[in-house]
Amino acid sequence: MWYVYFLELRNHDIYVGSTSDLKRRFRSHQNGDVVSTRAFSPVTLRSYIAVGTETVARSLEKYFKSGSGKAFARKRFDLSLSRHPLPSLGDKTLPPLAGHCACGSVRYRLLSPPMFVNCCHCRDCQRQTGSAFVINALIEADRVELLSGTLEPVAVPTESGLPHVIHRCRACRTALWSTYNGRPQVRFVRVGTLDDPAALPPDAHIHTRSKLPWVVLPEDAPAFEVFYDPQALWPKASLDRRRAAEGG
Ligand SMILES: [Zn+2]
Ligand SMILES: [Zn+2]
Repeated sequence: MWYVYFLELRNHDIYVGSTSDLKRRFRSHQNGDVVSTRAFSPVTLRSYIAVGTETVARSLEKYFKSGSGKAFARKRFDLSLSRHPLPSLGDKTLPPLAGHCACGSVRYRLLSPPMFVNCCHCRDCQRQTGSAFVINALIEADRVELLSGTLEPVAVPTESGLPHVIHRCRACRTALWSTYNGRPQVRFVRVGTLDDPAALPPDAHIHTRSKLPWVVLPEDAPAFEVFYDPQALWPKASLDRRRAAEGG
């Protein structure tokens, strides 16, 4: 049985921009086992850190109870650690990872945190969305549960010439997710379709060479002119997940 551990922090004061800092910090301290972090939500005053092993979860718990952990969180906070079997996480304890299309006929939920979140500023994404960028949460296809509705795959041309298929609601044509390079095992879920898009802040900004000039990124946000080396940037647990999903 595969488990994921959620460390939930309540009523703390970690600012939104610190999730990448949080991740970097734990990656270096914990050998890359932090699966994902959730942005501090000013509405619920909650953050989540998801990790793949109990050892790491316990050591994070210990860190947050220590002086430096308390200093990092800036004020008193409540902490709880919970373990969830995959792929049947209970809705009540999950961060809000459900989403839907504009007309509401397609509904889905993510059964675990994604492996990585990219914010792409390339011209293809700008054109396809009619906007400044797209935010994609990369997750195994079998961890996206379709609750209702029907999707229609639409192939689009790409600059690279590699396949890109956008999956749209058959009724209202909202794009819910994409698959790339003929690898349907990994979905690029459009974060804007989540009920709480703030729950999945970008882990990296890519193709920033075509970023619109008035889009200003946080100073500590990992940003790349074109792309990055996943081996260097992704947490080890995420690299393992991707390898497993793509069949080695
Ligand atoms: Zn729809
Ligand atoms: Zn793009």
